[in-house]
Amino acid sequence: MKILVIDDDPSVRKFIATTLKKENYTVIEAENGQEGVQKLLDEKDIAIIITDLIMPEKEGIETIMEVRKMNPSIKIMAISGGGKVGPENFLLLADAVGANATLRKPFSGQELLMSLRLME
Ligand SMILES: [Mg+2]
Repeated sequence: MKILVIDDDPSVRKFIATTLKKENYTVIEAENGQEGVQKLLDEKDIAIIITDLIMPEKEGIETIMEVRKMNPSIKIMAISGGGKVGPENFLLLADAVGANATLRKPFSGQELLMSLRLME
């Protein structure tokens, strides 16, 4: 199964990619929403998107709304550590615009895999 990981923090992308590859997922990475949407168009068989919310170029909420218009059935997980105010509001907003799951940063590999399996 192919998963697109969108996050502007390379260390977060690396952690998620390493965790997922160990479970035999194929991982495509993008560093912001704009690149993520392009990869979604290029790669036809992405089943799940894991996206950060606070990013330059195109942030996560806008990205989720755009992806939802393109593909109503693709699974989307929003991840965020929030800004100064904490992640709860961002994650609620992500849920409201069509994310299937939300996960608060920081999370363990096990928490990530568990959320993923609940969503599949
Ligand atoms: Mg970020």
